[in-house]
Amino acid sequence: MIAVSFEFFPPADAAMEATLWQSVQRLAPLAPRFVSVTYGADGSTRSRTHNIITRVQRETALTGAPHLTCVGAPREEILAIARAYWEQGIRHIVALRGDPPQGATRYEPHPGGYAYAADLVAALKGVADFEISVAAYPEGHPEAPSRERDLDNLRRKVDAGATRAITQFFYDTEAYLRFRDRCAALGISVPIVPGILPITRFPQVLRFAERCGATIPARLRERFAGLDDDPDTRRLIAASVAIEQVERLREHGVTDFHFYTLNRAELTYAICHALGVRPPAAPAIAAGAPA
Ligand SMILES: Cc1cc2nc3c(=O)[nH]c(=O)nc-3n(C[C@H](O)[C@H](O)[C@H](O)COP(=O)(O)OP(=O)(O)OC[C@H]3O[C@@H](n4cnc5c(N)ncnc54)[C@H](O)[C@@H]3O)c2cc1C
Repeated sequence: MIAVSFEFFPPADAAMEATLWQSVQRLAPLAPRFVSVTYGADGSTRSRTHNIITRVQRETALTGAPHLTCVGAPREEILAIARAYWEQGIRHIVALRGDPPQGATRYEPHPGGYAYAADLVAALKGVADFEISVAAYPEGHPEAPSRERDLDNLRRKVDAGATRAITQFFYDTEAYLRFRDRCAALGISVPIVPGILPITRFPQVLRFAERCGATIPARLRERFAGLDDDPDTRRLIAASVAIEQVERLREHGVTDFHFYTLNRAELTYAICHALGVRPPAAPAIAAGAPA
């Protein structure tokens, strides 16, 4: 049984907000396990995360999971947000350290705040029995001194109460599989859910990848080469790349997938369809069934 979850980000203006809600409505019939909404470093993004999650809870049957980070806020403020979420019926939080705010070159913990995601997970568990997902890095977090230390960190987050790790996006599927094996060897038994980033604009993905240290395989570059001004072909290639990726992961026993939708439904919907994740009225035809 395949389970999917979808990630959105808080829109910056009314037009983007309309796109977001169209995407939520398009993807909702696929019955995701949860939909998550990212959390930015500055205050306005924070209130927008809250508003979207509130609307998801109020207007849809979906389970909303806000992201919450340690950046730029003292402990009391973060705990107050968590308490308010619990009172509002939110039961799932994606707990992160967070990226430095724009303009800052390196991460500095808030003097009265939580320094790392593991501290935040423990604090949230102290507020209420939230379901907590955390981040994991198949190719290593760029600031980690070593892969081993990074895995120790993931283990600390799980020991503190996280029950799911969602990975940074990756296109080197072998790296994910090796990472999952290393987690298992260390006794990290929570699902390591692959984060799938369908490629809409390749240059944007190159920028994301550079920031987070994800490898872009040469064959991927080759597939998108020359398509900068050809969005239609790009979309077709993007769908085939992502479908190949999820099918390969499925062959290796992966059953849970998290999609970085970038607030667009089209590619995610197509990939889910290929995975057999469909609205109840459109059952998948079993492979090999007579036409
Ligand atoms: C699924 C997912 C969702 C995300 N959503 C958001 C979001 O909504 N908003 C946002 O701002 N960012 C988001 N990010 C990005 C994330 O905040 C960054 O990758 C950030 O740099 C690390 O966050 P973390 O929770 O993995 O941090 P941590 O797990 O705290 O690790 C951060 C780094 O510190 C190291 N470390 C941990 N503990 C210690 C310690 N005690 N001493 C020394 N080093 C230590 C780790 O090895 C690692 O290198 C997301 C990432 C993923 C994968």
